[in-house]
Amino acid sequence: MKQRKVLLILCLLLACTAIAAYAEGSDVIAHEEFRNQNFTAIDANSHELSYDVYNVYTHASGGPTGQEDFVETRKETEAHNFSSGVCADCGYACTHPSIEEDEGVIYDLKVLSITEDTHTISFKSRLTYVCTVCGEVAKTEESSEDGLTEEHSYGVDDTCIWCEKPMPEATPVPEVTPTPTVSPAPVVDSEPVINTVPAVVTATPRPAVQNYSAPAPVVTAAPAVQTVTFDPGTAVSTLRGVADDGTVMAADAVATIGESLEREVQSGANVTVVNLDLMLDDQEMSALEQLPVKDQLLVVFAAIGHSDIIPQNELSDQASALVQRITQRIARMNASEKAAFETLLAEAFPVETVQIDGKSYDFFVIDLEIVQNGAIKMERYGFRQAEDGQWVLTQINSGVIVE
Ligand SMILES: [Zn+2]
Ligand SMILES: [Zn+2]
Ligand SMILES: [Zn+2]
Repeated sequence: MKQRKVLLILCLLLACTAIAAYAEGSDVIAHEEFRNQNFTAIDANSHELSYDVYNVYTHASGGPTGQEDFVETRKETEAHNFSSGVCADCGYACTHPSIEEDEGVIYDLKVLSITEDTHTISFKSRLTYVCTVCGEVAKTEESSEDGLTEEHSYGVDDTCIWCEKPMPEATPVPEVTPTPTVSPAPVVDSEPVINTVPAVVTATPRPAVQNYSAPAPVVTAAPAVQTVTFDPGTAVSTLRGVADDGTVMAADAVATIGESLEREVQSGANVTVVNLDLMLDDQEMSALEQLPVKDQLLVVFAAIGHSDIIPQNELSDQASALVQRITQRIARMNASEKAAFETLLAEAFPVETVQIDGKSYDFFVIDLEIVQNGAIKMERYGFRQAEDGQWVLTQINSGVIVE
């Protein structure tokens, strides 16, 4: 009898527990909690993040149930989070395994003597190298020059950039009756260069410019503007890490595109911006070709009169100098040079008006030609001005031409 009673009590107890559990289960919510986060350096570039995952159960009302289950330990590899050369997460101190020249500074410049053609100068210089992994200054090199004699280098203001000697006046031309020479205008094929390619990327002539019918005096043949027409089927929504949804700022887009293209250039590709050579002089073109692709693409904005798009602090010194040279050259143009420049610009980099939801926006494109192993890839990036005046990426095309 006594044993039965004990059994009954036990049964009752069990039932009560089950009911309690059932009542509890109806308002219990599980959520994941991450604990014991730990970072371990793997190599110069990355560390491993590990953490324990728990399922923790609480009442819907918010109160803890005291119940939890360990699920697993997760491990992820991620890039170091460098700050002043040390990873803020795992504590790894960068050894600066790869460095690149950053900027050179010249100081203590003294002009020792000046002649008509040369100057003799002394100066000290400091070259800075930054780590390509963590971005810190990895080393500096000091050097000095005690008596360098060289020819003057005249800058944009026609004075020597070193000794400030003004450029000599042009020798007056002896008076000779000028014989007018009429050089035959070079025959410019109005067909664009890429016109024998298959359907993917076909070139078509630009729509007739309005003043074609006016009896304009033929002075010189306009340089050949290359026109690239993309088949609508070549439109893509993302390419090289950027999206065409109007959320990416023009400068950020070309920086990302440039970094992606740089890797192709490193593996032997040749990247050119279609028609950019028409907008720059020879010296500017050769300076441009020395720049990383990212900087080249930013310089394009200056060359087509949109230097406002370029974030000044993102340019290398060489690129800033080039942008300055281009903007100064454009600013110095006289009225007729300016008119010719504007006409050429309107043909080479036309700004169109696009309608979106009943509103008009300015829109222009940059076409890139990427040549590798004889194959030509064309890429188009279209930018439009947003309501706040900023330019954003809104169109991407990618077409391949197989030679
Ligand atoms: Zn780290
Ligand atoms: Zn470093
Ligand atoms: Zn000089």
